[in-house]
Amino acid sequence: MMNACPDSLWPSFRAGARLTVDLGAIASNYRYLQTLASGASCAAVVKADAYGLGIERVAPVLEQAGAREFFVAHVDEGIRLRSVVSEKARITVLHGPRPDASAECVQYGLRPVLNSLDQIAVWRSEALKAGRPLEAALQVDSGMSRFGLSSADLDALHEDGRLMDGLEVSLVMSHLACADTPENSANSAQKQQMLKMSARLPSAPLSLSASSGIFLGPAFHLDVVRPGAALYGIAPNQNGPNPLAQVVRLQAHVLQIREIFPGEGVGYGMTYRPDQPRKIATVAVGYADGFSRHGAGQGCAWFEDICLPILGRVSMDSLIVDISDVPEGKLRADMMVDLIGPRRSVDDVAEAAGTIGYEVLTSLGHRFYREYVGNGEAFQKDD
Ligand SMILES: *Cc1c(COP(=O)(O)O)cnc(C)c1O
Repeated sequence: MMNACPDSLWPSFRAGARLTVDLGAIASNYRYLQTLASGASCAAVVKADAYGLGIERVAPVLEQAGAREFFVAHVDEGIRLRSVVSEKARITVLHGPRPDASAECVQYGLRPVLNSLDQIAVWRSEALKAGRPLEAALQVDSGMSRFGLSSADLDALHEDGRLMDGLEVSLVMSHLACADTPENSANSAQKQQMLKMSARLPSAPLSLSASSGIFLGPAFHLDVVRPGAALYGIAPNQNGPNPLAQVVRLQAHVLQIREIFPGEGVGYGMTYRPDQPRKIATVAVGYADGFSRHGAGQGCAWFEDICLPILGRVSMDSLIVDISDVPEGKLRADMMVDLIGPRRSVDDVAEAAGTIGYEVLTSLGHRFYREYVGNGEAFQKDD
């Protein structure tokens, strides 16, 4: 028998949890970062599906907030982005033109980052084919040893000027390895190294800082800043308050409630055993939803302003919380509790899991009911 379920009822009936993404908070984080780096132009990094939040919904909002430049990691991500932002938006592909995907870069108007002499050669031959100069960003390795041209590569470019034929260099960039530790002397050493290397390349706007680098101050802003994480509410470093607006809220349904007594155990391995009677609830989020077995299932879920300690091991589709502190009858099956919300940020979840907010955000699963809201209303309900 067909049993049609109206879309408006979908969240409560069919998904285990609701992920709310506050697009207004993303826009306000963008504007905050652009103000902070007012001497530079603020690009937006939307790789990995806008850090898991949905590039189709997020990128247009960033463009509306003023972003003119976007960065993605892969060509495929650039192609996907091309169809949701305006034609004049500049899209830069961090991993550059892989030989079999370079024609698509031309076709979709993607600017590749050239990280090696090989990539320079690929793009040069693409320019030759196109019969016109092609725009490119060049990356230099200023000390992270991950991507970019080395000093020896710059020597080679100097020796043979034709290697850059047909390339119109419109950005020279590098990436900081230690920007989340402001006192680290590697930051200024990398900047000096980048300036030294860029002086040997065609003159172009310079870009060094991602989210954390912006908070190192104006000396690190140069011409273009490239925040990702901060747009999505992740703290720029572990010390001090987070000035960014929180973007995501994850609310999961309570599936079952029961009482347990000393002598009984909770979850796989029965790793939690109460020493007094407890009231517990099984909640519809598990490691398949990005709540890792390795500690993300520590700390508290929240019901209104009551902490619900997470007990035992996280299962694939559920975890168990202690609701003994909730007044009798207030929390029932099918109601929702916060796993990420006003009282527990993405960074809090990450800390419990021994990882960083970036990993928590990009690991969030695909079977939540996703709701996009515009004005921060998702975070006002309980306050
Ligand atoms: C991912 C990335 C960024 C954005 O980094 P955040 O720390 O998320 O702001 C910027 N530049 C490069 C090269 C990146 O790989």
